[in-house]
Amino acid sequence: MKFLVFSDVGKNVSEIATKLRDLGEVHSFTLKSQRDAVMKSGSKKLVLLDGTSFSGNVSEALLKSDLSGYDYVFIASTPLGRDIAGIISAKTGNMIASEAFDFTIDNGKIRTKRFFFGGKTIMEEETGAKIVTVSPGSFEPSESPDSPAEETITLPGSPEKLLEEKDREAGGTNIESAGIIVSVGRGIGSKEAIEKITPLVTATRGELAGSRPVCLDYRWLSEERQVGLSGKKVKPRVYIALGISGQIQHIAGMRGSKIVVAVNKDKDAPIFQECDYGIVGDLFQIVPKLVEKLKK
Ligand SMILES: Cc1cc2nc3c(=O)[nH]c(=O)nc-3n(C[C@H](O)[C@H](O)[C@H](O)COP(=O)(O)OP(=O)(O)OC[C@H]3O[C@@H](n4cnc5c(N)ncnc54)[C@H](O)[C@@H]3O)c2cc1C
Repeated sequence: MKFLVFSDVGKNVSEIATKLRDLGEVHSFTLKSQRDAVMKSGSKKLVLLDGTSFSGNVSEALLKSDLSGYDYVFIASTPLGRDIAGIISAKTGNMIASEAFDFTIDNGKIRTKRFFFGGKTIMEEETGAKIVTVSPGSFEPSESPDSPAEETITLPGSPEKLLEEKDREAGGTNIESAGIIVSVGRGIGSKEAIEKITPLVTATRGELAGSRPVCLDYRWLSEERQVGLSGKKVKPRVYIALGISGQIQHIAGMRGSKIVVAVNKDKDAPIFQECDYGIVGDLFQIVPKLVEKLKK
């Protein structure tokens, strides 16, 4: 079998290629800036896309690569990847299986698994889909000793124009690879109050994250720190949830955590059904105590 894998994030290409390389020949496509993250993915061919990337010109470049020569096209489910998957599906008439976090291919049929009902159940589907979008972080990438044949393609021009580039956040963040996450919910009350959590983030050497209201509705934290169904899926060793009620859409993003510690002043909050250690109380009183203990 022959697979085309695309992501604008090199690490996601390596995750998917690691899963596929024992099943057949993998041709990986990514942005030129992501080359280093894909070199050891075990891909037979690596196509680097050079130029400013938009959904239109990247899908045009992929469509020119004779997609009919591939059994399946795997695209990581990043915002750009989802757009591209839609365009390719519409232009080729091939169906998409979306948001898979695992899959098997048997006798030419693909069987995908994805979360359903806001992450409460898993939907297993056998379809005729030829395009699959894969949730980032679904597979552990491993290095292969084989080097790919490289090719660089200049992206075609695009009616979209890049006017300005802004850093999302000084220093950037990648909560998906964090070992310890301190996550705040609406219970934190204000943007200013997040500073009171900083000593805990420092003491645990963790990364700060948040629920959707905190990251998307109030913008107390940047969007890239949102955990959940419509945010990032994280798998830290320890996930500390502060003032988070534990709705299923949030749980869908942190279910893979090894140990979950929850602090909530409502003893009936659903997060207590999901945690290993639960503390009923005001987070502003509990956090300094945790920091004190950790410093000892
Ligand atoms: C399609 C869809 C996608 C969604 N995707 C996401 C997603 O990706 N991520 C996500 O998080 N949500 C998502 N949501 C929203 C989700 O349904 C919840 O609304 C959200 O998770 C609630 O966030 P929260 O727990 O921060 O706030 P709340 O539900 O308001 O909970 C706040 C909690 O803080 C506690 N609290 C208050 N003050 C304190 C204090 N001083 N000390 C301790 N505890 C305190 C309260 O008891 C309460 O339990 C999605 C919803 C939909 C419909």
